[in-house]
Amino acid sequence: MTDRMNRRQAIAGIGLGSLGVAMSASRAASGEAPATSTPPTPVAYTLPPLPYKSLEPIIDDATLALHHDKHHAGYVKGANAALEALAKARETGDFALVKHWERELAFHASGHALHTLYWTSMWPGGRGESSPTYPTALDQAMEASFGPREKMLDQFAAATKAVEASGWGVLAWEPLSKRLVALQVEKHQDLTVWGCVPILVCDVWEHAYYLKYQNRRADYVDAWMGIIDWQSASERFEKAAR
Ligand code: MN
Repeated sequence: MTDRMNRRQAIAGIGLGSLGVAMSASRAASGEAPATSTPPTPVAYTLPPLPYKSLEPIIDDATLALHHDKHHAGYVKGANAALEALAKARETGDFALVKHWERELAFHASGHALHTLYWTSMWPGGRGESSPTYPTALDQAMEASFGPREKMLDQFAAATKAVEASGWGVLAWEPLSKRLVALQVEKHQDLTVWGCVPILVCDVWEHAYYLKYQNRRADYVDAWMGIIDWQSASERFEKAAR
Protein backbone atom coordinates (compact mmCIF):
# COMPACT_ATOMS: atom_id res chain seq x y z
CA MET A 1 0.00 0.00 0.00
CA THR A 2 2.76 2.40 1.00
CA ASP A 3 4.72 1.39 -2.05
CA ARG A 4 1.68 2.06 -4.22
CA MET A 5 1.13 5.48 -2.70
CA ASN A 6 4.79 6.34 -3.23
CA ARG A 7 4.57 5.35 -6.83
CA ARG A 8 1.44 7.43 -7.25
CA GLN A 9 3.12 10.40 -5.68
CA ALA A 10 6.08 9.86 -7.96
CA ILE A 11 3.76 9.91 -10.95
CA ALA A 12 2.12 13.07 -9.72
CA GLY A 13 5.53 14.69 -9.41
CA ILE A 14 6.56 13.69 -12.92
CA GLY A 15 3.31 14.98 -14.38
CA LEU A 16 3.63 18.31 -12.66
CA GLY A 17 7.25 18.60 -13.71
CA SER A 18 6.57 18.27 -17.42
CA LEU A 19 3.63 20.66 -17.18
CA GLY A 20 5.86 23.21 -15.50
CA VAL A 21 8.39 22.95 -18.32
CA ALA A 22 5.65 23.43 -20.92
CA MET A 23 4.26 26.46 -19.15
CA SER A 24 7.61 28.17 -18.63
CA ALA A 25 8.46 27.61 -22.30
CA SER A 26 5.19 29.26 -23.23
CA ARG A 27 5.83 32.29 -21.10
CA ALA A 28 9.40 32.61 -22.27
CA ALA A 29 8.24 32.49 -25.90
CA SER A 30 5.39 34.93 -25.45
CA GLY A 31 7.26 37.27 -23.10
CA GLU A 32 4.39 37.05 -20.61
CA ALA A 33 4.88 37.36 -16.88
CA PRO A 34 4.34 34.11 -14.99
CA ALA A 35 0.72 33.61 -13.94
CA THR A 36 0.10 33.91 -10.22
CA SER A 37 -2.15 30.83 -10.04
CA THR A 38 -0.48 27.45 -9.75
CA PRO A 39 -1.97 24.52 -11.65
CA PRO A 40 -3.68 21.74 -9.70
CA THR A 41 -1.42 18.86 -8.65
CA PRO A 42 -2.14 15.62 -10.55
CA VAL A 43 -3.74 12.90 -8.43
CA ALA A 44 -4.28 9.19 -8.95
CA TYR A 45 -7.76 8.02 -9.96
CA THR A 46 -9.93 6.90 -7.05
CA LEU A 47 -13.25 5.08 -6.88
CA PRO A 48 -15.94 7.51 -5.71
CA PRO A 49 -18.44 6.14 -3.18
CA LEU A 50 -22.01 5.65 -4.37
CA PRO A 51 -24.11 8.71 -3.49
CA TYR A 52 -27.02 6.47 -2.33
CA LYS A 53 -27.51 3.04 -0.77
CA SER A 54 -29.98 1.55 -3.20
CA LEU A 55 -31.77 2.15 -6.51
CA GLU A 56 -34.29 -0.67 -5.96
CA PRO A 57 -36.55 -1.68 -7.61
CA ILE A 58 -35.19 -0.10 -10.83
CA ILE A 59 -31.70 -1.50 -10.37
CA ASP A 60 -31.27 -4.46 -8.02
CA ASP A 61 -28.80 -4.16 -5.17
CA ALA A 62 -26.66 -7.09 -6.37
CA THR A 63 -26.11 -5.47 -9.78
CA LEU A 64 -25.38 -2.10 -8.20
CA ALA A 65 -22.78 -3.59 -5.85
CA LEU A 66 -21.04 -5.65 -8.54
CA HIS A 67 -21.12 -2.78 -11.01
CA HIS A 68 -19.60 -0.28 -8.61
CA ASP A 69 -17.31 -2.43 -6.45
CA LYS A 70 -15.96 -4.71 -9.18
CA HIS A 71 -16.45 -3.19 -12.65
CA HIS A 72 -15.91 0.47 -11.85
CA ALA A 73 -13.09 -0.37 -9.42
CA GLY A 74 -11.42 -2.32 -12.25
CA TYR A 75 -11.42 0.75 -14.46
CA VAL A 76 -9.82 2.83 -11.71
CA LYS A 77 -7.11 0.22 -11.19
CA GLY A 78 -6.47 -0.09 -14.94
CA ALA A 79 -6.26 3.67 -15.44
CA ASN A 80 -3.71 4.06 -12.64
CA ALA A 81 -1.68 1.13 -13.98
CA ALA A 82 -1.57 2.82 -17.40
CA LEU A 83 -0.46 6.12 -15.86
CA GLU A 84 2.31 4.30 -13.98
CA ALA A 85 3.47 2.49 -17.11
CA LEU A 86 3.52 5.74 -19.10
CA ALA A 87 5.48 7.50 -16.35
CA LYS A 88 8.01 4.67 -16.50
CA ALA A 89 8.21 4.99 -20.29
CA ARG A 90 8.99 8.72 -19.97
CA GLU A 91 11.63 7.97 -17.33
CA THR A 92 13.38 5.32 -19.37
CA GLY A 93 12.71 6.87 -22.78
CA ASP A 94 11.38 3.47 -23.92
CA PHE A 95 8.13 4.16 -25.83
CA ALA A 96 7.94 0.76 -27.53
CA LEU A 97 4.61 -0.01 -25.80
CA VAL A 98 3.20 3.52 -25.98
CA LYS A 99 0.29 2.48 -28.23
CA HIS A 100 -0.74 -0.27 -25.83
CA TRP A 101 -0.61 1.96 -22.74
CA GLU A 102 -2.34 4.91 -24.42
CA ARG A 103 -5.19 2.54 -25.37
CA GLU A 104 -5.26 1.16 -21.83
CA LEU A 105 -5.40 4.69 -20.44
CA ALA A 106 -8.20 5.74 -22.80
CA PHE A 107 -10.23 2.58 -22.13
CA HIS A 108 -9.95 2.58 -18.35
CA ALA A 109 -10.01 6.33 -17.72
CA SER A 110 -13.02 6.72 -20.02
CA GLY A 111 -14.72 3.88 -18.18
CA HIS A 112 -13.94 5.62 -14.90
CA ALA A 113 -15.16 9.02 -16.16
CA LEU A 114 -18.39 7.62 -17.60
CA HIS A 115 -19.20 5.50 -14.54
CA THR A 116 -18.58 8.50 -12.28
CA LEU A 117 -21.12 10.39 -14.40
CA TYR A 118 -23.47 7.40 -14.43
CA TRP A 119 -23.73 7.17 -10.62
CA THR A 120 -24.53 10.86 -10.45
CA SER A 121 -27.01 10.60 -13.34
CA MET A 122 -29.38 8.64 -11.10
CA TRP A 123 -31.19 9.18 -7.80
CA PRO A 124 -33.59 6.86 -5.99
CA GLY A 125 -36.96 7.61 -7.57
CA GLY A 126 -35.43 10.41 -9.63
CA ARG A 127 -35.32 14.04 -8.56
CA GLY A 128 -35.34 17.60 -9.87
CA GLU A 129 -37.75 17.10 -12.74
CA SER A 130 -40.09 19.77 -11.44
CA SER A 131 -37.47 22.06 -10.05
CA PRO A 132 -38.71 25.01 -8.01
CA THR A 133 -36.58 27.17 -10.31
CA TYR A 134 -38.14 25.69 -13.50
CA PRO A 135 -37.13 26.34 -16.17
CA THR A 136 -33.51 25.83 -15.20
CA ALA A 137 -30.72 26.74 -17.63
CA LEU A 138 -30.60 23.05 -18.57
CA ASP A 139 -34.36 22.97 -19.22
CA GLN A 140 -34.00 25.99 -21.49
CA ALA A 141 -30.98 24.55 -23.31
CA MET A 142 -32.82 21.23 -23.84
CA GLU A 143 -35.77 23.04 -25.36
CA ALA A 144 -33.56 25.20 -27.58
CA SER A 145 -31.64 22.12 -28.75
CA PHE A 146 -34.39 19.50 -29.07
CA GLY A 147 -37.76 21.25 -28.86
CA PRO A 148 -40.31 20.09 -26.26
CA ARG A 149 -38.80 18.09 -23.38
CA GLU A 150 -40.55 14.83 -24.40
CA LYS A 151 -38.85 15.00 -27.81
CA MET A 152 -35.45 15.16 -26.18
CA LEU A 153 -36.35 12.27 -23.87
CA ASP A 154 -37.66 10.24 -26.84
CA GLN A 155 -34.47 10.79 -28.82
CA PHE A 156 -32.19 10.07 -25.86
CA ALA A 157 -34.02 6.84 -25.01
CA ALA A 158 -34.19 5.70 -28.65
CA ALA A 159 -30.50 6.43 -29.24
CA THR A 160 -29.51 4.64 -26.04
CA LYS A 161 -31.60 1.54 -26.86
CA ALA A 162 -30.05 1.43 -30.34
CA VAL A 163 -26.41 1.48 -29.19
CA GLU A 164 -24.75 -1.46 -30.92
CA ALA A 165 -23.40 -3.98 -28.40
CA SER A 166 -21.86 -2.42 -25.28
CA GLY A 167 -21.92 1.30 -24.81
CA TRP A 168 -23.53 4.39 -23.46
CA GLY A 169 -26.23 6.93 -24.15
CA VAL A 170 -24.84 10.39 -23.50
CA LEU A 171 -26.45 13.82 -23.31
CA ALA A 172 -23.62 16.28 -23.95
CA TRP A 173 -22.99 19.97 -24.45
CA GLU A 174 -21.41 20.67 -27.82
CA PRO A 175 -19.76 24.08 -27.49
CA LEU A 176 -19.08 24.83 -31.19
CA SER A 177 -22.78 24.79 -32.14
CA LYS A 178 -23.84 25.77 -28.62
CA ARG A 179 -26.34 22.97 -28.27
CA LEU A 180 -27.02 19.83 -26.33
CA VAL A 181 -26.65 16.64 -28.35
CA ALA A 182 -27.63 13.05 -27.68
CA LEU A 183 -24.77 10.70 -28.52
CA GLN A 184 -24.30 6.98 -28.79
CA VAL A 185 -20.96 5.81 -27.48
CA GLU A 186 -20.11 2.36 -28.83
CA LYS A 187 -16.45 2.06 -27.93
CA HIS A 188 -15.65 4.54 -25.26
CA GLN A 189 -11.92 4.01 -25.68
CA ASP A 190 -12.08 5.37 -29.23
CA LEU A 191 -12.97 8.79 -27.90
CA THR A 192 -10.02 9.27 -25.59
CA VAL A 193 -10.93 10.09 -22.00
CA TRP A 194 -14.47 11.42 -21.67
CA GLY A 195 -14.53 14.69 -19.81
CA CYS A 196 -11.07 15.71 -21.01
CA VAL A 197 -10.62 19.23 -22.36
CA PRO A 198 -8.28 19.27 -25.37
CA ILE A 199 -5.35 21.67 -24.96
CA LEU A 200 -3.14 20.83 -27.93
CA VAL A 201 -4.01 18.70 -30.95
CA CYS A 202 -1.98 17.40 -33.87
CA ASP A 203 -3.92 16.19 -36.93
CA VAL A 204 -2.39 13.01 -38.33
CA TRP A 205 -5.05 12.27 -40.92
CA GLU A 206 -3.14 11.94 -44.21
CA HIS A 207 -4.81 15.06 -45.64
CA ALA A 208 -2.86 17.10 -43.07
CA TYR A 209 0.59 16.18 -44.42
CA TYR A 210 0.49 13.92 -47.48
CA LEU A 211 1.39 16.47 -50.21
CA LYS A 212 4.68 17.30 -48.54
CA TYR A 213 5.51 14.27 -46.40
CA GLN A 214 3.71 11.39 -48.23
CA ASN A 215 3.96 8.34 -45.96
CA ARG A 216 6.50 9.92 -43.61
CA ARG A 217 4.14 10.80 -40.80
CA ALA A 218 6.95 10.77 -38.23
CA ASP A 219 8.83 13.49 -40.16
CA TYR A 220 5.67 15.61 -40.22
CA VAL A 221 5.11 15.16 -36.47
CA ASP A 222 8.75 15.94 -35.67
CA ALA A 223 8.55 19.14 -37.75
CA TRP A 224 5.14 20.01 -36.28
CA MET A 225 6.59 19.94 -32.78
CA GLY A 226 8.54 23.04 -33.75
CA ILE A 227 5.50 25.19 -34.67
CA ILE A 228 3.39 24.66 -31.57
CA ASP A 229 1.46 27.70 -30.33
CA TRP A 230 2.16 27.40 -26.60
CA GLN A 231 0.54 30.76 -25.98
CA SER A 232 -2.88 29.55 -27.20
CA ALA A 233 -2.35 26.23 -25.43
CA SER A 234 -1.65 28.05 -22.15
CA GLU A 235 -4.81 30.09 -22.52
CA ARG A 236 -6.89 26.95 -23.11
CA PHE A 237 -5.21 25.22 -20.17
CA GLU A 238 -5.83 28.08 -17.78
CA LYS A 239 -9.53 28.14 -18.72
CA ALA A 240 -9.83 24.36 -18.40
CA ALA A 241 -8.00 23.96 -15.08
CA ARG A 242 -9.75 26.89 -13.41
MN1 MN B 1 -20.80 -0.22 -16.50
